[in-house]
Amino acid sequence: MTDKNDILFARAQKTTPGGVNSPVRAFRSVGGTPRFITRAAGPYFWDAEDKRYIDYIGSWGPAIVGHAHPEVISAVQEAAARGLSFGAPTEGEIEMAEEICKLVPSIEQVRLVSSGTEATMSALRLARGATKRDKIIKFEGCYHGHADSLLVKAGSGLLTFGNPTSAGVPEDFSKHTLVLDYNNCEQLEEVFKSIGDQIACVIVEPVAGNMNLIRATQEFINTMRKLCTAHGSVLIFDEVMCGFRVGLHGAQALYGVQADLTCLGKVIGGGLPVAAFGGRAELMGHMAPLGGVYQAGTLSGNPVAVAAGMTTLKIIQQAGFYENLTAQTRKLVDGLTAAAKAANVSFCADAVGGMFGLYFANEIPGSYAAMMASDKERFNRFFHLMLDQGVYLAPSAFEAGFVSAQHDDAIIADTIAAAEKAFAQL
Ligand code: PMP
Repeated sequence: MTDKNDILFARAQKTTPGGVNSPVRAFRSVGGTPRFITRAAGPYFWDAEDKRYIDYIGSWGPAIVGHAHPEVISAVQEAAARGLSFGAPTEGEIEMAEEICKLVPSIEQVRLVSSGTEATMSALRLARGATKRDKIIKFEGCYHGHADSLLVKAGSGLLTFGNPTSAGVPEDFSKHTLVLDYNNCEQLEEVFKSIGDQIACVIVEPVAGNMNLIRATQEFINTMRKLCTAHGSVLIFDEVMCGFRVGLHGAQALYGVQADLTCLGKVIGGGLPVAAFGGRAELMGHMAPLGGVYQAGTLSGNPVAVAAGMTTLKIIQQAGFYENLTAQTRKLVDGLTAAAKAANVSFCADAVGGMFGLYFANEIPGSYAAMMASDKERFNRFFHLMLDQGVYLAPSAFEAGFVSAQHDDAIIADTIAAAEKAFAQL
């Protein structure tokens, strides 16, 4: 064994289950050795062999301004020099809350946490506490972090591993979770008709990114808004992935619909652990110390993480940021689609803002079932052909991809040139 990635992977597996700290990193789905990353800059990262890759996962979403952006790095350095964590409030947290409330109109008050999992778990508890109801609705293929009651038919890593539900979740915990079909309005109507008064909340990824990329239809979003309002249920948009990815004001601005609670993460930490949940002040007033719903965190609102997040939020508000990001992502998916067509490969692609989906299928899937019918083996071969040429795509057919503001025309052209070769060999 001479490849440094192989050596590190063998070493990692001795002390870390599967050699990784988050399952999809292990390349189980696509096969082969995960690349161990040593450094990153702009649209690139480098592995242990010092091989350079164009990065299309961007830390699974956060790296929207590109890796190691000088302004973000210096904000982090300055904050770190003032102390790493105090366990007492700071002005930076107020600024961050004000910024989030300004950018997402449905959020009047927000609580900062350290991961998307904490954000969704806490939003769920709040919805249950506020409505005094237990049942929740989620949709098959949507991932909302790994809290027990949300880990049911939950997409991405779980799809990759073929576990519809995790072991270790007592049935008593998940029995209140109803799993319905994404984009199926009739089914949602029927469930609300029969047990609407028992539903605490509906939680949804309004642009789903954990069963590859699947857009909700406008009708689906309108239906859930209407039903939640009519039955006094809380509508939770899990925008941990799509918030600040699909546009500056999140998916709710794209659909013109306001959620009761919104979960954010990834981009708002700029690569450090910040996530959040927020909504109407009246609902958020149920949170401790004001109300009876408990939630807390030693490192919540951490000053270094908040400095990275705030700087990132400032950069994404610069004129033309989302126009550029959207245009580059569109160029990428159009270029890949054309390259596949030229090579006679059944393939299509979609993009919303800086998120994209690649599908080895005849048409863009609109449901979990359609996504599952795509050609996973072909994706896996494509993934490795691209990786060999220095293009790092998400290592699973069921994950979305991410473009950063540093993916310029030359980077997109290099990617498409690599794809032309890959499609020709499939
Ligand atoms: N919700 C969504 C929509 C996500 O995509 C993710 C992470 N991929 C989470 C929640 C969980 O976030 P974290 O990994 O930070 O716990």
